[in-house]
Amino acid sequence: MREEQQPPDQEVVEIAKNIRRLQLPMSMPGLGHVNCYILDDENGAALVDPGLPGPQNWKALMAGLKQAELPPERVHSIIITHSHPDHFGASGHFRELYGADIITHKNFKLWWDTADEDDDLVEPVDKDGDNSEILDNTLFLNRETGPRAPTPWGGKRYKLPLHRRLGYSFMKHGWGGRWFATPQPTSHLEDADHISLAGREFVAIHTPGHTPDHLCLYDPEEEVMICGDHVLPTITPHISGMGTALDPLKDFFTSLDRVKEFSSVKLGLPAHGQPFTDLPGRVTDIKRHHEERLQLLRDSSDRLGRAPVDRYMKELFKERSWGPMAESETFAHLEHLRYVGETDATRNNAGAIEYSFR
Ligand SMILES: [Zn+2]
Ligand SMILES: [Zn+2]
Repeated sequence: MREEQQPPDQEVVEIAKNIRRLQLPMSMPGLGHVNCYILDDENGAALVDPGLPGPQNWKALMAGLKQAELPPERVHSIIITHSHPDHFGASGHFRELYGADIITHKNFKLWWDTADEDDDLVEPVDKDGDNSEILDNTLFLNRETGPRAPTPWGGKRYKLPLHRRLGYSFMKHGWGGRWFATPQPTSHLEDADHISLAGREFVAIHTPGHTPDHLCLYDPEEEVMICGDHVLPTITPHISGMGTALDPLKDFFTSLDRVKEFSSVKLGLPAHGQPFTDLPGRVTDIKRHHEERLQLLRDSSDRLGRAPVDRYMKELFKERSWGPMAESETFAHLEHLRYVGETDATRNNAGAIEYSFR
C-alpha cells in the first residue's frame, strides 16, 4: 500500500519547529487520509487544509485539536492550498462556528457546484459534415466549464459516485446546510506574498497545474515547504483537462520547475503521505512520469493514426483506471502536444475531437 493510501495516524505529531501534523480520514481511490498542518504561534494557530466536509471529518478534526491541546477558538486562520474538497471542505463550517480567517490564492474557485449535478448526458457537438478542418489554438478559449458543459473532447463527464453525490447534496442542503457552508475566502495570497505563520515569515508560491489556484508555502527560516497536492511523495497529482486552463500540463511543468529552484528546502510537507527530504529529486521524478506519458502518445501515433481521446487513454492507463478522469488527463497531455506543435486536432462527424501527430 502506498503511503498516501494509509489510514490516518491517530497521533498528532510534531514535524518541525511550531509545525504539527494531524491526519484526517478520507477514502478515495489512492487516498486514505489528508494531512492537516497545525502552525502554532503566539496568537494561537493556523490550520492548513482542514479536510473534507461532513461529520466524520469534523469529529476527527475536533478530536485531533483536543489531542493537540488547541481549542478551536484559538485557530485564527485556515489556509487552503487549493480548491479540492479534501482540502477546503471543513473550512466554511469552521469559520461559521469559530470565526477563523480563510486564506486562499486569489484564483480560488469553488468546485462542488457540479457535485450534485444529475445530468450526465453529453450533447453531441452540432457540426455538420466537414471534419477535415484543423482546429486552431483558440479552440477551447471560450469553452464552457459549467456543470452542464460537455467535455471539450466529446466524452462523458466525470461524475462522483452516487453515494458521494447524495452525501454532498445532503451536507449542502440538509440540516440547514450545516456541513457544507461555503468557504468564502476572507483574504487572498498572491505569488511571493509574505504571511506570518508558525512564528515566522512564510512565502506564498503560486503553483498552478493540479488546479489553477494551487499554493505552496515556503519557510526560508526552517527550510520547509508545505506542498499541498503539487508534489506528493509516491503518486502524481491528477492533471485535469476539464478546468479553465488551456494547457494545464505546461502550467504544472512550470510550477514544478519553480519549486525545484528551492533547492535548500530540507523538508517537503505534502497534503497526502509522509514528509520527504529530497524535493528537487521528487520533482524530477514527477516530471519524468509525464514526459514518459508524452512519449507513449508519440510512440502509439503510427499505430493509431488519427484517434479520439478515449483511444489514446488506453495507451496511457491500465484498464482498471479507464474512465472520464483518465480521459481528462489524456486530453491534457494531447492538448499540451498540440500547443507545442506536435499534434493537430480535428472534429469527427460525431463531434468528438481526434488527434493526429504531425
Ligand atoms: Zn487536489
Ligand atoms: Zn488532495
